[in-house]
Amino acid sequence: MVFHVKHSDYDVIVVGAGHAGTEAAHAAHRLGCRVGLVTFRKADLGVMSCNPAFGGLGKGHLVREIDALDGLMGVAADRAAIQYRLLNRRKGPAVQGPRVQADRALYHRAITALVKDTTIDVIQGEVVDLRLTESGAVRGVELADGSEISAEAVVLTTGTFLGGVIHIGSEQRAAGRVGQGASVRLAQRLRDLDLSIGRLKTGTPPRLSARSIAWDMLDRQEGDAKPIMMSFLHAAPFVRQVACGIAHTTEQTHHIIRANLDRSAMYGGQIDGIGPRYCPSIEDKVTRFADKTSHQVFLEPESLSSDVIYPNGISTSLPADIQVEYVQSIPGLEAAEILQPGYAIEYDFIDPRALSPTLELGEVSGLFLAGQINGTTGYEEAGAQGLVAGLNAAHLVQHTEKTIFSRADSYIGVMIDDLVTRGVTEPYRMFTSRAEYRLSLRADNADDRLTPKGLEIGCVGRDRQKAFDAKMRRLHDVQHLLDSRSFSSHELRAYDVAVSDDGRRRSGTDVLALPGTEPVALARALFPSLEALDEDIVQVWRNALYRQYEVRQQNEVAALRRAEAVSIPEEFDYALIGSLSNELRGKLERVRPVNIGQAERIEGMTPAALNAVWSAVKRHSAGISRTG
Ligand code: FAD
Repeated sequence: MVFHVKHSDYDVIVVGAGHAGTEAAHAAHRLGCRVGLVTFRKADLGVMSCNPAFGGLGKGHLVREIDALDGLMGVAADRAAIQYRLLNRRKGPAVQGPRVQADRALYHRAITALVKDTTIDVIQGEVVDLRLTESGAVRGVELADGSEISAEAVVLTTGTFLGGVIHIGSEQRAAGRVGQGASVRLAQRLRDLDLSIGRLKTGTPPRLSARSIAWDMLDRQEGDAKPIMMSFLHAAPFVRQVACGIAHTTEQTHHIIRANLDRSAMYGGQIDGIGPRYCPSIEDKVTRFADKTSHQVFLEPESLSSDVIYPNGISTSLPADIQVEYVQSIPGLEAAEILQPGYAIEYDFIDPRALSPTLELGEVSGLFLAGQINGTTGYEEAGAQGLVAGLNAAHLVQHTEKTIFSRADSYIGVMIDDLVTRGVTEPYRMFTSRAEYRLSLRADNADDRLTPKGLEIGCVGRDRQKAFDAKMRRLHDVQHLLDSRSFSSHELRAYDVAVSDDGRRRSGTDVLALPGTEPVALARALFPSLEALDEDIVQVWRNALYRQYEVRQQNEVAALRRAEAVSIPEEFDYALIGSLSNELRGKLERVRPVNIGQAERIEGMTPAALNAVWSAVKRHSAGISRTG
């Protein structure tokens, strides 16, 4: 249906209050928009559908980047964190991933409080349709009760709810997660828009009662003795910290699962969608890794105030009775009580190649998509996209410059570029290996990389700006002092620093970056007047470690930036380039790269074809300027 509005109820409507939705709403609010956040239930805010944890490898980088731009996830994760672990602690800082196990109730409470602290209106209801103008631009949404809400831009963050179907063995029902409905009418409406839509699937394990577990039979995993916070604003945990248990599946467990594979929804053929390769179900594990006789199961408390345990590693879509049988075959879980069976869910996603790097849909002006709806999996991936969509929805309304992240500045840039340029063939999750500039895109320096950009955009508030400026001044002072003196190999030997007799003098920073140093003790020994905090010395050390690699990467990054600086006009006609193959022309027309950098990364792009595009774009731009 087509209609016209003069004054909108809101600048931006966000549909869905999960991880993408709350970040999108808050980002648009930070840029000064009037925001309506429509969701099935007010209790949806920040609900974790699956694992009670944030961060990890690659994902921890995303949380830090959201935080550097003054988003919600890092702050809320710290308020809810009941166990901190820095993953890959023994490897270099570039591939370390901060992770927390989060109390579900506290996380929901933290997100709710952060949203309440704003002018965002949370509206309870189901969005069933979009309101479009004659020219096909979105102007609002229609709810299931027939009411309409108008807005200049709409962000859809419907998660696993879009056409969601839950499977437990042969049982099926429409739902976006257990205990809730699915978004069926909106899914149909999007199919009518002639978008390329596919199905994906994911699963969750059964939940166990803590009281029914023989904890003394299990190994324990404690958190880090010196916890590293998710948010740059925090210094210490907010709540009591807990340990996890570790159990192990047995050959008997695997036998039960194998004997019942035909009753699993994932293996019985009821589910068409493709699942996440890196987050396999227990059915997947026992078939794909058939030679393994045991798999670890981490027993993670879901909350300080409940009896619920999340057994990480055994997600399943087997019937409930088989779940009881295989869980109870695990030593320590013989009397385990299942509070809620595991299940698989399949849902619609939209081919993200239909999106621009602002996450706006090419076909419908003003309509942005973020989160699981774009084929990703995970809270962090969803939150980061929500942030980008929320910022750009606000820019559209306010006629300000778009915010586009680059592969050279962030994991956010890597993810969005991967999605909109290459699309997805399975649920997309972040890994450090996806980032070619990972030595400079570290979790520890996300604030240094992105807070200045956030300040320019206007999405970073005063408190964070103050904390950031103070930290940068402190780091600068440490760096300045370390660079103020140099040391000969002979002098360094007096400090037990083994260094070759090459006649070079090394600055304090270069000395710290030598392999095997203990940076804090060494810096204090070399510079007795150094009064800095340990964490500031460690940060200067991390920066020093990677400086030489960053210098080496400078040429590559500069080439990328040059290619990204050549914009391709939206209306550019690839049919004008006769030398392009039909296949490549089709890909360019579908992806519609916004600049030469993005065009270069399209699958199958050759140097000759890129040159042809580049020249044609130059001619096109010159033609416009001649006629203009
Ligand atoms: P969601 O968190 O799903 O939020 C969607 C929101 O939209 C909800 O608030 C919903 O109420 C609202 N909504 C939807 N449609 C409408 C509508 N029409 N009108 C109004 N409101 C609407 N991730 C992993 O990384 N690893 C896993 O192993 C994993 N397993 C999972 C297992 C299950 C069973 C499920 C359900 C999810 C799993 N996930 C997993 C995915 C994880 O939950 C999502 O990646 C993440 O929650 C996505 O965030 P989102 O904001 O995109 O969507």
